Amino acid sequence: MLKLLEKLTQIPAPSGSEERIHNAIREEIAPFVDEISVDALGNLIAHKKGNGARVMFAAHTDEIGLIVTFITDKGLLKVSNLGGVSAINALYQRVCFANGTEGVVSLDNTNLEDGKTPRLSDLYVDIGASTQEEAEKKVCIGDTAAFSGKFSTQGNMAVSKALDDRAGCVVLIETIKQIKSHTNDLYFVFTASEELGLRGAKAAAFTVNPDYAVAIDVTRTGDVPGKLEMAVRLGGGAAIKIKDSSFMAHPYIKQRMTEICEEKGIPHQFEVLEQGGTDSGAIHLSGGGVPSGCISIPTRYIHSPAEMIDIRDLEAAIRLAVSLIEKGL
Ligand SMILES: [Zn+2]
Repeated sequence: MLKLLEKLTQIPAPSGSEERIHNAIREEIAPFVDEISVDALGNLIAHKKGNGARVMFAAHTDEIGLIVTFITDKGLLKVSNLGGVSAINALYQRVCFANGTEGVVSLDNTNLEDGKTPRLSDLYVDIGASTQEEAEKKVCIGDTAAFSGKFSTQGNMAVSKALDDRAGCVVLIETIKQIKSHTNDLYFVFTASEELGLRGAKAAAFTVNPDYAVAIDVTRTGDVPGKLEMAVRLGGGAAIKIKDSSFMAHPYIKQRMTEICEEKGIPHQFEVLEQGGTDSGAIHLSGGGVPSGCISIPTRYIHSPAEMIDIRDLEAAIRLAVSLIEKGL
């Protein structure tokens, strides 16, 4: 499982370029599902047939990144954000474009008052070009780049870029592999462009038209110094989401998840996330409304190149998803 997590986190797939991760996922799940398709927005949809209610599981394949807006006469790239990128997290990080071009995010402090926090507009990406012409041989306006950040483990801790949401993708993949029996008609959707406002999930929910939906994504934790007061902590188990800024979990799904965790002895905790959302936010509003829930993986330093999870929480999330499917919704 950790080998798979390493492999998936290291594939660059900023929002809008999710196709780069499709082959890796397809290879893993193909023997275990009935059909796999890719829709117009870049959602990879796997179907495992059943006779019961139609259930959609979703984990997003895209990650935050940068998009080139302008190339200066000195060959430096001005960039805008793809998803929730903060200048502080981006500064002095390495980025990688689809064609393999690498760059370093740096700061132009000409217009920045001393002591003020930089904005994205103060940053540029240096790809080692000295003129606009030289830069344009490697990069075009509109090209997108992902941050680099190697995968490593230490004890129960795993650190990498893009654990948001390759950790969720791994939960779905492992779940697909481990299910022994099911009655629900199952759709596993590896969604596109979540970081741009849940766009892929919205289209996929229209296509799948589920009776119930469960997203798998990372969530923040309140166990590090700072202003965020939140009950979720690393190592506390799979987080059963109750609310975030995009939706409220349906009481039936929340109750079903809780019962299963109690019955099976799966470590779990409850999550109320005051700022942030996930695919369930779009899915639950599709059609005439879809009772939805979310299994979250507690994660420190989200949207940085060094996101951190506890591997035991990931395992708990897999056990919960497998049990939910085997018991049925
Ligand atoms: Zn996410």
